[in-house]
Amino acid sequence: MSEFDIVVVGAGPGGSIAAKVAAEEGYTTCIIEKENLRDEGRYKACGGAMAWELVEEIDYPEEKVARVIESLELHHVDGETYSKEGKGAVVWRSVFDKFLTDMALNEGAKLKDKEALLDIEQNGTNYKITTTQGVYDANYVVAADGVTSRTLKRLGWPDFHSDDLILTITKEMKLNSVEIDERLGKDKVHLYFGIENLIPVGYAWLFPKADHITVGWGNQINLIKNSREEFQKFVSLSTVEKSLRGSEEAVFKPHLIPVGLRPQLYKEKVIAVGDAGGIVDPISGKGIPYAMMSGQIAVETIKKCENKDRIKRIGEYYKKTLDRKFLKILELKRQARDRIFNDEKSLKNFLSLWETHRSSEIVMKGLI
Ligand SMILES: Cc1cc2nc3c(=O)[nH]c(=O)nc-3n(C[C@H](O)[C@H](O)[C@H](O)COP(=O)(O)OP(=O)(O)OC[C@H]3O[C@@H](n4cnc5c(N)ncnc54)[C@H](O)[C@@H]3O)c2cc1C
Repeated sequence: MSEFDIVVVGAGPGGSIAAKVAAEEGYTTCIIEKENLRDEGRYKACGGAMAWELVEEIDYPEEKVARVIESLELHHVDGETYSKEGKGAVVWRSVFDKFLTDMALNEGAKLKDKEALLDIEQNGTNYKITTTQGVYDANYVVAADGVTSRTLKRLGWPDFHSDDLILTITKEMKLNSVEIDERLGKDKVHLYFGIENLIPVGYAWLFPKADHITVGWGNQINLIKNSREEFQKFVSLSTVEKSLRGSEEAVFKPHLIPVGLRPQLYKEKVIAVGDAGGIVDPISGKGIPYAMMSGQIAVETIKKCENKDRIKRIGEYYKKTLDRKFLKILELKRQARDRIFNDEKSLKNFLSLWETHRSSEIVMKGLI
């Protein structure tokens, strides 16, 4: 049995940053990832949009950015359009996630890829993890294996409420970059809303990448009657149809987004980060930066509690730090989400506010 101070399950943004910080702090660290990370070919369903500040913060090379974005167009199917300025990036997740995992490996973390966690059980004060390839002993476990976390399922943690799950469908449509520029605008991402005539609680999107358009659709899972038909309705909107005309389908993939917290974020020496904990913006579905921040905070909390001999309080301190940094705002956004999607008037009011304000500002100032 291989022994590690910290085993991180999942090499997404949450897991890779947790492993990077753990290795920097001197912990023996291993990431277990079910996919093959050796090339950049792994596909992950995601818009891949992020603020430019994040690109700069991690020194993400500009040549790895699939598109630089300057504005966001918010469309209501009734015809209104709202434009929101702001520099951002759209990335391929295979490339971005690999970059973050490499940061962890450069600090000395070990990676076991093509290896899925099958089971986890408590073993005295440690954890015994069984994967498709071996058995590991971990003093601490960071569950970063996404919304359907097998780690937390096997440990018997409570699952998400169905109101807090968005089912998404993503298609990558191949098209040459000149046509993408003409149809979507060179530096624009587009979001589509409409409670009655499109999506009751959620939205759809067209994101430009270098030579692909990412077509996405997401709706609260317990309100969906037929996801393929509803997705098709979006793709058949005349503006969308025109944007995609002549493009070639390269990928079709459903995936879940958690838009409310898992009822439990920690127990003893296991901490949930990123999507495994539901740490995602409930209005936009943005999860990459929150996964990274929660991964970092999880390991920093372990270190701090060990230094102060307060190991029993790791979970409590983790939650308190998340609350202070951003979780309280995400909880306010979760409440606001119900109000925003209550009717078209509230939705349009929110879209017009979003044009000029950050969504965190809207909820903190109580503007909706
Ligand atoms: C369609 C869609 C569009 C999105 N668009 C955006 C966007 O534009 N911007 C944004 O910020 N966020 C976006 N998100 C959200 C974002 O993708 C997630 O919040 C983010 O990936 C969470 O990171 P994570 O590390 O917590 O989990 P993940 O990225 O899900 O990583 C989990 C990892 O665990 C691995 N794993 C799973 N099970 C096991 C197992 N049993 N054993 C070992 N490994 C396992 C997986 O292979 C995966 O690599 C989108 C999500 C979806 C579904």
